[in-house]
Amino acid sequence: MVTRMQRLNSQYRVLPPEGVLMTENPAIYALREAVVHFGDPQRPVLQRISLEIPRGQFLTVVGPSGCGKSTLLRVLAGLQSLSGGQLERSYGESAMPTRGASGAELRAGFVFQQPALLPWRTAMQNLRLPLELGSGAAGEGQAAEAGEERLLGLLEQVGLSRADAGKRPGQLSGGMQMRLSLARALVRDPQVLLLDEPFAAVDDFLRMKLQDSLRALHDARGLTTILVTHNLQEAAYLSDRVVVLQPSPRGLSADLSVRRSRLSPAERRRAPEQFEFLQQLSAALFPS
Ligand code: ADP
Ligand code: MG
Repeated sequence: MVTRMQRLNSQYRVLPPEGVLMTENPAIYALREAVVHFGDPQRPVLQRISLEIPRGQFLTVVGPSGCGKSTLLRVLAGLQSLSGGQLERSYGESAMPTRGASGAELRAGFVFQQPALLPWRTAMQNLRLPLELGSGAAGEGQAAEAGEERLLGLLEQVGLSRADAGKRPGQLSGGMQMRLSLARALVRDPQVLLLDEPFAAVDDFLRMKLQDSLRALHDARGLTTILVTHNLQEAAYLSDRVVVLQPSPRGLSADLSVRRSRLSPAERRRAPEQFEFLQQLSAALFPS
């Protein structure tokens, strides 16, 4: 029902990943004919993009630089309004059509390529920031509610230790800073995690560990995760589904489901399905 993309100008379509009842889940986001332009309606960055994202899915967006991936992510986050079309965010029983930048109802955590931490604050104080920035009295209430224990638990979930809580970003390695940035995105207990090339600046070894942490968090917390990456291996390894975005006016040119059988991370990295999927993805990106 909802995992099928209606408007696709390619031969690919979404199939439910093996063993996952993805089709049972309602869409948490539904973009319908979404258009975004920055001033010139003749040159939209996103042109009639339709995409439904079921709750619980790990969706990755790949595509050439400048094709509008970050813009698409900002639209979903409610940070970028649409010039045309519609975005529905739906959670629980109700579907609420929204047009514009009202992201208040659906909690989403955002992770960027740079950890964007405040250098003069400790890890714990950085973690508290989203709560302090909450609107007015509600934000203060939330900050008070967020017990020290819960935040320390969150640090552990992303692979940091309690001892790291008092350290400043300058005392943490690049990978630890990225983990802290991931923890901060989870502080408000989001239903959705949006990540814009989060591991692009880290080396391969660290990247693999961060990938494993991310997928484990997605599974453990029942998140809906939308990742932008230019690393095809990362897309194949992490995702339930990968969509290819091409520069406007082509838009979404492929929509592929990834078979996820029950493998350990190490097994998955060298599973033949991974290589088959990579070939499929390369063919979708660079048709011969
Ligand atoms: P990607 O993330 O795929 O590299 P972006 O979504 O960042 O692409 O950008 C797509 C296009 O939209 C680029 O040409 C970029 O210059 C333009 N763009 C993005 N944001 C803005 C903005 N706020 N104002 C004007 N142009 C923008
Ligand atoms: Mg970008």
